[in-house]
Amino acid sequence: MRGRFVFKGARVVDPTAGTDEVRDVWVDQGRIAAGPVEAAETIRAEGLVLAPGLVDLHAHLRQPGFEHKETIETGTRAAAVGGYTAVAAMANTDPVTDHAAIVHEVRDLAAAYGLCDVFPVGAITKGLAGESLAEMGEMVEAGVRMFSDDGNPVPTARLLRNALTYAKAFSAEVVLADHAEDGPLVAGGQMHEGAVASSLGLAGRPAEAEEIAVARDLAIARMTGGRLHLCHLSSARAVELVRRAKADGIRVTAEVTPHHLVFTHEDLVTYDTNLKMHPPVRTHEDREALRAGLADGTIDAVATDHAPHAVEEKEAEFDLSPPGTIGLETALAAVLTELVHPGILPLGRALEAMASAPARILGAGDHGGPIEVGRAANLVLVDLDREWTVEPPFTSKARNSAFTGRRLRGRVLATMLRGELTVANGKATR
Ligand SMILES: [Zn+2]
Repeated sequence: MRGRFVFKGARVVDPTAGTDEVRDVWVDQGRIAAGPVEAAETIRAEGLVLAPGLVDLHAHLRQPGFEHKETIETGTRAAAVGGYTAVAAMANTDPVTDHAAIVHEVRDLAAAYGLCDVFPVGAITKGLAGESLAEMGEMVEAGVRMFSDDGNPVPTARLLRNALTYAKAFSAEVVLADHAEDGPLVAGGQMHEGAVASSLGLAGRPAEAEEIAVARDLAIARMTGGRLHLCHLSSARAVELVRRAKADGIRVTAEVTPHHLVFTHEDLVTYDTNLKMHPPVRTHEDREALRAGLADGTIDAVATDHAPHAVEEKEAEFDLSPPGTIGLETALAAVLTELVHPGILPLGRALEAMASAPARILGAGDHGGPIEVGRAANLVLVDLDREWTVEPPFTSKARNSAFTGRRLRGRVLATMLRGELTVANGKATR
């Protein structure tokens, strides 16, 4: 049901238009309307921020195949609660999204049960096995724009070259997203390699593993002219390589997660498995470089790497526990609390990195703004100052949040998908 609404007196922050002004925003027939619209329901928005709905480039929705961790229904509900109107769903499902039939299955499930738009990410290689290329052509025809073997790095430069060349032949807009870690160098590693790992007796994943993979990927992107996206950057040297590559005109974009922007390896002294992730959180210097890279645009987007796991899976011993943290419900609040409120990142840049930039990278034209008449009403309403404590249960089926117990400042009050409120008064509407 698409209603008629007016967001009354909102502070409208539109990163695409570069504007930040108090005004009314009218919605009719699923679109932003000129207004006034007759019989519109009033949503009091004085003192609240109205922005384009958030877009996540990197979510593991786990369906098909791992419904005990998350489903498209629970994952997109968690996304809506976090302010998202679109998410890219990673391909490491079972079966793997490596041909068009699974793309259609994911889309159909999202259309039937989803509370936000879902953009299926296609696998680069068949079965994520890192050997032969997946059915990229038929997936492009099915509308897939982003490909990734995320979870697994593309194992060789040769394979990445073939994939980027092949993808580019279909469309200049197709983007390959790599989980950039040198596989053999991180094998068996549990956390960032350094003094903390040594003192905890845990095997390390050195920052050099990311540096090597990023350098390789950038060289192949330059060589092929293909579009490269780098997932979840975690190290200062990787940020510097991307900065140089962009200056050289290489077609590369990059993302960083809220947890890499907030935590360091020192936080692992409690052996909290919710802080185990690939790539790992690293040193204070790495975290500062990620923050600076996000602020200056070297890193284009904030992406969640939402990685739900069942409770018993995360309760295993540290070295047996699967990597990853959920993130959809906390991403915006974490960025507001840790970066925007302390003055490290302007609000407009934060929203650009969480809405407009990912929409552009993903080719999600209806999302990410601008908030102007005729555009799809994909919006989020945020109370910047509302404080809350992160604690289970979550809207996600999972509860493995790295932010558990944290006090955050900033809360999504409403999310609107094409004129329908998916979240109202901070709660999912269905
Ligand atoms: Zn990954």
